[in-house]
Amino acid sequence: MDKTEKSTDQQKLANHNGDQVVSPNNKVIERAIVKDWDREIQKGEDIEKYWAMEAEQLDWFKKWDEVLDESEKPYYKWFVGGKINLAYNAIDRWIKTEKRNKIAILYTNERGDEIKLTYYELYREINKMANALLNLGIKKGDTVSMYLPMCPELVISMLACTKIGAVHSAIYSGLSSVAVVERINDIKSKVVITADGTYRRGKIINLKSVIDEAMLQCPTVQTVVLVNHTGRYNDVADLRGNEIFYERLIEGEGDSCYNEVMDAEDPLFILYTSGSTGKPKGVLHTTGGYMVGIATTLRNVFDIHDNDLWWSTGDAGWITGHSYTIYAPLLLGSTTLIYEGAPDFPDPGVWWKIVEKYGVTKFYTAPTAIRHLMRFGKKYTKLYNLDSLKILGSVGEPINYEAWKWMYEEIGKCRTPIMDTWWQTETGMHMIAPMPVADLKPGSATKPLPGVNIAIVDEEGAEVKKGKKGYLVITKPWPSMFRSLYNDEERFEEVYWNHFPDGYYKTGDMARMDEDGYIWIEGRSDDVLKIAGHRVGAVEVESAFNSHPSVNETAVIGKEDPVKGQLIKAFLILNNGYDLDLPFKDGSNTMLREELKRHVRHSLGPVAVLGEMVSVDSLPKTKSGKIMRRILKAKEAGEDLGDTSTLDDL
Ligand code: ATP
Ligand code: MG
Repeated sequence: MDKTEKSTDQQKLANHNGDQVVSPNNKVIERAIVKDWDREIQKGEDIEKYWAMEAEQLDWFKKWDEVLDESEKPYYKWFVGGKINLAYNAIDRWIKTEKRNKIAILYTNERGDEIKLTYYELYREINKMANALLNLGIKKGDTVSMYLPMCPELVISMLACTKIGAVHSAIYSGLSSVAVVERINDIKSKVVITADGTYRRGKIINLKSVIDEAMLQCPTVQTVVLVNHTGRYNDVADLRGNEIFYERLIEGEGDSCYNEVMDAEDPLFILYTSGSTGKPKGVLHTTGGYMVGIATTLRNVFDIHDNDLWWSTGDAGWITGHSYTIYAPLLLGSTTLIYEGAPDFPDPGVWWKIVEKYGVTKFYTAPTAIRHLMRFGKKYTKLYNLDSLKILGSVGEPINYEAWKWMYEEIGKCRTPIMDTWWQTETGMHMIAPMPVADLKPGSATKPLPGVNIAIVDEEGAEVKKGKKGYLVITKPWPSMFRSLYNDEERFEEVYWNHFPDGYYKTGDMARMDEDGYIWIEGRSDDVLKIAGHRVGAVEVESAFNSHPSVNETAVIGKEDPVKGQLIKAFLILNNGYDLDLPFKDGSNTMLREELKRHVRHSLGPVAVLGEMVSVDSLPKTKSGKIMRRILKAKEAGEDLGDTSTLDDL
């Protein structure tokens, strides 16, 4: 038997939802921009034709001569010869239309503060900052690092960079000074933009002190720009020689500025991956194709209309924040809500309160946040009116059925489809995702988007049969693909391109396709357990645990066993009132430990050989909320933990 094969029974049970299909209601279909999902996918069969058509929605200074240049694989080029500017397309072009006074960004935070900036106001702020950066000596191609919370100045600074052709690199504001030093020195930034602090769970986290420490080891940085976000600094005397307040910096700057004419292939930004599987990678994105990819996918997947209020909770320190919290909504002329703070402070109703207050229509978040909020039950989602919501979305990890169901029932009140979007920092845009008119299967990201080509292959790169698990690869280039790892072409080729046949991009994830062509992401290939000759994805086992009422969240790893190869070791966050060594329910003789063993075996079949179960209060996660199984594995084996720069230790 093929090692990747599983029995039909196991397969059916692996998703814990049988064959459930959730269809959109008439209202969703009536509103939808894309009415025929299959036809839209067909349109993408000729990738060059499809993406060239989508590129027409942007304003190009000069159209491309060639859509795709594959002559130097894997260094693909899109829209060769095209000239364009991101800030111009995201902001300037709307100023000339009726959108001029529309709100572009709506900032709010856990304290309930609010700042609204119209397109015209944002335009002027960006121009002032762009002029200020030019005065600091920043030129096209120079790198600027940012260590900022989700605040208007972050959006302004990113767009100011793109306006003048500077390459920005946002560093998540929860990372330590060691991580900051690495990321700044890697790209040799001349300017760093930071803030005094950020609001988190009722406290102000000091960001400036992290930068102070980092600056001792960042010789290329000439200027530190400080946003006095929480009002901690009152006096210029508090600053050092090379530091300047943001307000001071832009004071007196003109509120108009030219747009650098960028080549479609000019670098746009560098962003580091989440570090779930190892040392974070400095992903380089370029200009034209990236813009085309993100604008198209946001419009199609979330059905963006002019009157939408879009809220993506993704922080700009990660790719979701770049592509979908900031850039794509502005490229579509939409209003984007940016939120600073925790999802559960001052209470776990804070997000729902915001949805009600502003009438959010589209809401995009991560399974980790949903699983966290589920712990507080239904109380908070019931307190607020969530009727404005039309579409929900999920990104970052596979969403287990219980979390999906909670989102669907408690947040969307069974009215709003959930767009489960699979993609990566490297892909820049959604790759596998439905559209609102699609029939959904909870837990599946459904099908590749139009113009995206995916295959599931074995070790040798041959396609596996439907229903079989294999390596998820992307078989054709796509416009918003990353162009390299910054300064590390060797790693770029080695990690992504050398493993499979020519032109196949290795995603690092495992998946299978069902009879209807729906794709089920089974987690990362690094996290696959090998039990008695069978390969079982960590995610499958975790989902089985999570489907038990006593379990909130699980991480599993393989524990070496001389007979079976590996046994499953499960780290469990139990719901309130449960204990592994107490009876599962009142009056029962069965301890929860035994009950869970039975439950998981029932779900996955005899392959699920449970070695050990431990109850824990928290799981090691990246700062972006993904479970870091490699940390658990290293601890178990008594090995060095490896790169922990993105480990969330809060
Ligand atoms: P690193 O590459 O440094 O290990 P990372 O892969 O977590 O970190 P990201 O680019 O932020 O960095 O995440 C992309 C990965 O997240 C995907 O490869 C996949 O494993 C997971 N992922 C994202 N969205 C989904 C989704 N909707 N369903 C399943 N998995 C997802
Ligand atoms: Mg990755």
